[in-house]
Amino acid sequence: MRAVIITALALALGTPLRTGSAQATEVIGGCVVITLRGGSSLDERVRVECQNTPAARAPNGQSFDQLYAWAVPFLAAAFDDAERGHCGLPGCATNGRTVRVVLLSNGSANAFVGRQPNGGFVVGITTGLLDFTEATSRALLQDAMNDRGGGPNSADGLAWWLSTTSASGGRRCSPNLPSPARGFDSRTHFQLLRTTAQTVYWFIFAHEVAHVRLGSRCGFAGAASDVLGIERECDRRGFEALASRGYANAMAPVAFLIAMRNYEALTGPLLALPGATVSWAEAFPARDWGARARSIVDTWRTICQQGNATPLCADGWRGAAQWADRMVRSPAPSACVMGGDPAPPLNAHDPLVAAIRTMAETAVRGAAALEALRVRDPQSDLRDGISVNVPGGDCSISRRASLRGRVLCVFARDRNAIEATRVYDEVARSIAAALGTAGWVAEDDELDAGDVRSRTWRKGDAYLRLRHSNDEGEHDVDLFVRAAQ
Ligand SMILES: [Zn+2]
Repeated sequence: MRAVIITALALALGTPLRTGSAQATEVIGGCVVITLRGGSSLDERVRVECQNTPAARAPNGQSFDQLYAWAVPFLAAAFDDAERGHCGLPGCATNGRTVRVVLLSNGSANAFVGRQPNGGFVVGITTGLLDFTEATSRALLQDAMNDRGGGPNSADGLAWWLSTTSASGGRRCSPNLPSPARGFDSRTHFQLLRTTAQTVYWFIFAHEVAHVRLGSRCGFAGAASDVLGIERECDRRGFEALASRGYANAMAPVAFLIAMRNYEALTGPLLALPGATVSWAEAFPARDWGARARSIVDTWRTICQQGNATPLCADGWRGAAQWADRMVRSPAPSACVMGGDPAPPLNAHDPLVAAIRTMAETAVRGAAALEALRVRDPQSDLRDGISVNVPGGDCSISRRASLRGRVLCVFARDRNAIEATRVYDEVARSIAAALGTAGWVAEDDELDAGDVRSRTWRKGDAYLRLRHSNDEGEHDVDLFVRAAQ
């Protein structure tokens, strides 16, 4: 498997990784407005829309545009390359008009293109789509790394994430899914990650350029009401355009589409608009990501069987296409079930609440009782701790002599600070619920100079301290326990 993934991804490396430079970058409300070229003014409606978009902020005060500043040169380059794929050079599809890529602070994954009254183009992309692309790319690479030597890591990477989410259907809805690729080191594999993710941005922008160049229906001959048909046509035309000039790579886009399929199939009831009378899938038939992935794999085969000489069809493409087939055929999850209680997902029976309670009790009773943490849980076969299902997914409870018990939640770089903040708040609520009125006193939140936000609960000289730290964009939420002396 690793050989297949690495071979297919290496094909993308045949194309130089380019970063683009924006002509100007401006932050307006919850938008980063990246002007790629042209000088016509920003449409007033876009400006108002941006001003009305709430801009998320990290707990250390970092604004969302700082969090996503890294993306600007890559998005700029991806749009230019999408146009190169379609017709040879930047500006060829947009007729030399003003082009702006607008990055919106919004957790749902979306992209779109619109023509402005003054003739310019605005290409929108959400931070949710960026997060999803980055996470999927990391997970795909993690799969490749997993296979090195001792076989796949059974609890990390894309294959694990897809099977875990597939098996999670029908349970109570939670906005937090497990995060894949926890073991992947983005810094060490920076070039590989950027190259892989860039093939997804190419794909997304080539789709939008197809809307511009071929008309809003991308030349689709079927019924105007067939929105899925139209979107698949735009996918196909965009992908073929990229392939014709050596830009296309199908691995990461297919992985991205199937991950989107699982995510939306599972969490559809949570995504549905308030008061919606139809399901998420019925409301948005064009978001049939499984069908769209199927089309891309078919298009890939057709292109290569016709003797295309670009990297997309270099040696090994058949094996890679079979891998993609397997992924497309993998079962999509059924939808989660909304509970009667829309309030916090944690209750008295939640494993985290139970674990916190145990930690609090043992903290008061003394260190010896902490041994209980290891044996109470059937999952305690893990060498270093107990895995529990808590908000954020990546949390574990471990017991080490020095720490006297610890809950640790790690949030990958490029994932997001907003999610870490939410988990901090949820865990804080859980702690409050778990401790009840057993004599624990909560102190106010503290923010220290090192970007660490913390909250402490004390009882005598024992304490529980919840922390959210930010180490150069890598967010951790952890809970320390100190036992009574
Ligand atoms: Zn479209």
